[in-house]
Amino acid sequence: MKIHEYQGKELLKKFGVTVPRGIPAFSVEEAVAAAEKLGGPVWVVKAQIHAGGRGKGGGVKVAKSLDEVRTLAGQILGMQLVTHQTGPEGQKVRRLYIEEGADIQKEYYLSVVTDRATQKVAFIASSEGGMDIEEVAHSTPEKIVTVQIDPLQGFTRADGEKLAQGVAMPADSVDQFIDVCQKLYTCYMETDASLVEINPLNRDGKGNIVALDAKFNFDSNALFRHPEIVAYRDLDEEDPAEVEASKFDLAYIQLDGNIGCLVNGAGLAMATMDTIKLFGGEPANFLDVGGGATAEKVTEAFKIMLRNDGVKAILVNIFGGIMRCDVIAEGVIAACKAVNLSVPLVVRMKGTNEEKGKQMLAASGLPIISADTMAEAATAVVAAAK
Ligand code: ADP
Ligand code: MG
Repeated sequence: MKIHEYQGKELLKKFGVTVPRGIPAFSVEEAVAAAEKLGGPVWVVKAQIHAGGRGKGGGVKVAKSLDEVRTLAGQILGMQLVTHQTGPEGQKVRRLYIEEGADIQKEYYLSVVTDRATQKVAFIASSEGGMDIEEVAHSTPEKIVTVQIDPLQGFTRADGEKLAQGVAMPADSVDQFIDVCQKLYTCYMETDASLVEINPLNRDGKGNIVALDAKFNFDSNALFRHPEIVAYRDLDEEDPAEVEASKFDLAYIQLDGNIGCLVNGAGLAMATMDTIKLFGGEPANFLDVGGGATAEKVTEAFKIMLRNDGVKAILVNIFGGIMRCDVIAEGVIAACKAVNLSVPLVVRMKGTNEEKGKQMLAASGLPIISADTMAEAATAVVAAAK
């Protein structure tokens, strides 16, 4: 799960990391009132969307008067902000963050992620912070330093010194920088984050270290123990089909292909997508209906898949273990009728009550293509989508 910058900064503040003073705003009037409350002389009007690259896209602007705050807030609020992370259609700006203007001396990059290869938390830092870290990683990777944290020791002074040295932090700011890293580590661990990225981390004219941006991702599997983080969720920023799916406890991820997949079990869903690709097709989604899907759940799953105009054929691939094939057949038949299915449907079922399920599908009179093996199913659905 992702959150907005202003929410991330609330968390950082809670864990003792210095951030500029700022107030979120949902309208132009609120933006002006926020600026008045903060006091000048310089403010930054920042679009709040769940994507980076806002500065380059025109979503972060400096204002030097309340009038300018009003004008900029009016321009940014409601705009369709396009950044390299939003895709060409962009994301509508519904919230702003009004922040005091910082005295930027030097912008650093600092992030915390879980490195699966070493199974450790990794700190990544660079002296070249600001808006172009992807470019730095690409053309001058030597300017990026990575330090793995020992899970038993936690973040140590030595880790901090390596990072400080790696970014050539001036001596008078090293202690503060290490302190920020330590606090960031605590924040990362205690919130079950999977990414915290501060870009830029500013060293101001007085040598103070201040977080000017905050990007957080959280491990969704740990959200049950963080109601305060769940409260930050902004459904406007999420894919509507994925939000709908989560209401029915369906694991759904939309993809770019044209073959809709309805599968039980994440492993089988992955294998199904691989098989479709092997036979020259492209999956339109990942969809795991789970172990205990009911006919209603299958119907909802069909509806969600079919919201995607790109779907030209559907493959239902079910292994009946706990799940019985006749229940799936019942769900598929009900769903086809409910959604008035107009694209070809290939069904492969194996396992408990397989025969019964197949008979039900055959007797339904619906134009369902039955397949026995994964290869047969994939061949049929790839042909049907063409
Ligand atoms: P994004 O990463 O989405 O472009 P940032 O929050 O990093 O958004 O802002 C982009 C740039 O704007 C920063 O690199 C920084 O130079 C500048 N900036 C952001 N916040 C402030 C602030 N409070 N005061 C001064 N400059 C800022
Ligand atoms: Mg940034």
